[in-house]
Amino acid sequence: MVFLKTEDEIELLRAANQLVGLTLAEVGRNIKPGVTTMQLDKVADEFIRDHGAEPTFKGFPNPYGGPFPASICTSVNDQVVHGIPNDIPLQEGDIVSVDCGTLLNGYNGDSCYTFCVGEPSEEVLNLLRTTKESLYLGIQSACAGKRIGDISCAVQQCCESRGYGVVREFVGHGIGREMHEDPQVPNYGRRGNGLLIKNGLCIAIEPMITLGSPQIYMMPDQWTVRTRDGKPSAHFEHTIAIHHGKPDILSSFEEIEKLENIIIV
Ligand code: MG
Ligand code: MG
Repeated sequence: MVFLKTEDEIELLRAANQLVGLTLAEVGRNIKPGVTTMQLDKVADEFIRDHGAEPTFKGFPNPYGGPFPASICTSVNDQVVHGIPNDIPLQEGDIVSVDCGTLLNGYNGDSCYTFCVGEPSEEVLNLLRTTKESLYLGIQSACAGKRIGDISCAVQQCCESRGYGVVREFVGHGIGREMHEDPQVPNYGRRGNGLLIKNGLCIAIEPMITLGSPQIYMMPDQWTVRTRDGKPSAHFEHTIAIHHGKPDILSSFEEIEKLENIIIV
């Protein structure tokens, strides 16, 4: 069931999502060779709680295994999504996708950014640029009167036309009082298909794009998803509302993009 949000609810979602943007920037500020993702998790956990919110990911249930043990997902290089922070130091040339969720005043924030550790190869930087560009193309398609398939198709065409892989098994989603609500927002699809987009629809759009094949597998921890061919994968996510007919981005990369370990599209 799709819950369309009121103006007041959209503002509550904006507050939760703005906090995610600030948290990701705080994490990004600490990303450099030698730092562990566990250290980044501690930064995020403290920052979220200091701002009166809860890290939604912590303890998130998993029907196939234990609850998620950390406050952010940190997916390094060939890890696609849901990487668990660990004590392995990040290395020069790595990329790390940091996905973060907050619960603030009963509403959820959800956003992800893929950061550079030092200087990744040009091939990897281009993957990041395209993934991020595809996110914005998806967002531009999210206007009242269009359909979810228009968003999906915009993301897919951008990435596949450049030879990248679009992960099928994980998708964007509605968001509100629950982090994952209807509808699903796939990163592949056909124009004109799917749910009609209306004012008050709030969704997270999150392309997960691979340098090589989009085939993935699940690690024994039942969380970490990796590419089968071992090639890198990128993930960018914004939460948006359809507001006055147009997409209104509720999360923010503004503070993140003041940092240096990011790509500019
Ligand atoms: Mg997310
Ligand atoms: Mg999400």
